[in-house]
Amino acid sequence: MPDWALHLIVPLLALLIVSRKEDQKYILLLLPLAVLPDFDTFVTQHRALLHNIFIPLFLVFLGWVLKEKRAIFNIAAVYIASHVFMDMFGGGVVLFYPLYNHMAFVDASLQMSSTNTLVWTFDYGFSEYGSAWKHAYGYISDSIGTGALAFVLLAGICAAYRNRVKE
Ligand SMILES: [Zn+2]
Repeated sequence: MPDWALHLIVPLLALLIVSRKEDQKYILLLLPLAVLPDFDTFVTQHRALLHNIFIPLFLVFLGWVLKEKRAIFNIAAVYIASHVFMDMFGGGVVLFYPLYNHMAFVDASLQMSSTNTLVWTFDYGFSEYGSAWKHAYGYISDSIGTGALAFVLLAGICAAYRNRVKE
């Protein structure tokens, strides 16, 4: 299950790679949206209420209507969509909530077994939206995730310090 470190770092990198320079400030400012969907864990219907395809689609639609703000809405849509996409590989999301209350999931992994053979798993489809998901559930950061966040934060501090020294 992806935690917050992955949810933040993956779309951030992807957006920085494809973005125009003038959009980079929006990419940084909107970064918190990458973890926003997990706030449904504090309410109810976790992995459904904010983990569906309609929120990113609505943002893209808004960008289509409001032409001069298109970049901002598209960046916001990428942040939410990347979260939903990654969670689909980590247990599943109710992608078409509230129209179709089943979890869309993808299970894809490549592992080395104890007998040194490669085990490739690939499965996808819809599964029951279990009652365990309906109550607050899910974690914010596991230990590896916390380490990853600390490392990236350290890089940020170094970058800020270097820029200050330069001035
Ligand atoms: Zn999530």
